[in-house]
Amino acid sequence: MLRTWIEETVEHVGETVCVKGWIHRMRQMGDKLVFVDLRDGSGLIQVVFYKPELSEEVQTTVDQFKTESVLEITGIVKQRGAKQVNPDMQTGTIELAAQSVVILAKAKNPPFQIDQDTSGINEEVRMKYRYLDLRSERLQRNIRLRSKWVQACREYLFKNRFTEIETPLLTKATPEGSRDFVVPSRLQPGKFFALPQSPQQYKQLLMTAGFERYFQTARALRDEDPRADRGFEHTQVDIEMSFVERDDVMNMVEGMVIEASEKLGFTIAQKPFPRITYKESMEKYGADKFDMRTEEQKAAGILAYAWVIDFPFFEKDEKSGKWTFTHNPFSAPLPEFLEDHLAGRNIENILTSQYDLVCNGYESGGGSIRAHDPAVLKATYQNMGYGEEEIQGSVGHMLEAFEYGAPPHGGIALGVERNLMNLTQETALREVVAFPMTSTGNTSVMDAPDPLSKQALIDLHLEVKNG
Ligand code: ASP
Repeated sequence: MLRTWIEETVEHVGETVCVKGWIHRMRQMGDKLVFVDLRDGSGLIQVVFYKPELSEEVQTTVDQFKTESVLEITGIVKQRGAKQVNPDMQTGTIELAAQSVVILAKAKNPPFQIDQDTSGINEEVRMKYRYLDLRSERLQRNIRLRSKWVQACREYLFKNRFTEIETPLLTKATPEGSRDFVVPSRLQPGKFFALPQSPQQYKQLLMTAGFERYFQTARALRDEDPRADRGFEHTQVDIEMSFVERDDVMNMVEGMVIEASEKLGFTIAQKPFPRITYKESMEKYGADKFDMRTEEQKAAGILAYAWVIDFPFFEKDEKSGKWTFTHNPFSAPLPEFLEDHLAGRNIENILTSQYDLVCNGYESGGGSIRAHDPAVLKATYQNMGYGEEEIQGSVGHMLEAFEYGAPPHGGIALGVERNLMNLTQETALREVVAFPMTSTGNTSVMDAPDPLSKQALIDLHLEVKNG
């Protein structure tokens, strides 16, 4: 018999159905009655085993039940009496009167309780047994909401003529202001790939290639010290558009964020999103990320988005004393600063076309209009003190590509985790990622990184000092 999803059992009152899932909770009432709350991917159902009406074989099976074991139960869906209705349960108007049961998989005693909120459980234990942690109601809800949010963004983008395109993971270093994760090349001794800090250069090459509107739910890898709201890897809804100005990208993305949030039942504090310059934001909030919500709005889970614009393009690097980019070296300066930019004049005053989307105190996304004219991109590197050879080594391939008719273009990346933290009101990244890193930078369940065997090191032309 094909199993019925638990949430659909309410439509089958009076019928025989088969449900499959985990024992969420169980209680014994005297020696005749056993109640099981069975859980599947759609919800919970109360199952009643009334022993006097069951075969001896079924009774023996019932005696072997343990929480988190996996069962297949066949029974009749019964309306509950008015007094037994549980308004807090999705299937609270019915219960299943079990007739037969099979234990599909036995479960050991879980190391922590899954039918309760697991946020207080020791992190190491939660990550080691992440597959059990993920069974908990809150994480099921968060991870499913993440999928729905990404789907809503995708649907919006497809509707607006975007093409989803994947870009390489083994690539060349691209500057996003972090350290690269590197992968040694076995075939080319002493050479290394970098894992992408973002698909920035590829998406710009896709604009040069004539795709005009690109998106990808892209993995970005950055070797930074992990924090509650930042890990080694994150996912971004990565977008690039041709023939656009700053407002075009901002309006398109604003439309996406509004549609996705409202589709999922969330309320947005202010539409269109307020826009504030970096200078005003620093004066008013002392930061370029801020929370505009009132206490009531916070409690109601309302989303308060705002755009921050007119950022300085360059800042002084404290160590080297040289100018460095504040956000993205591929950005274009605002048009009124183009002359200064090209001449390397008044560098401290040049503003970039960067726009950041802020929500509830987090940076929810950021992007810019790009320097599609090779002279402008080159000037950025010159302003940062790069010599000709260094420029060619870093972005020579981009400068060359832009010689072949690159359209004006711009884009943005929205951090999936940051956005989900806002939707779920979680304060830690690990609550919205299926398999996050631990705070010491180890993977959940599998506990990488691992040492390599001697032979693997030889094959990769590597030697570990003091290893
Ligand atoms: N590459 C930028 C980032 O990953 C986003 C963008 O400018 O599109 O933060």
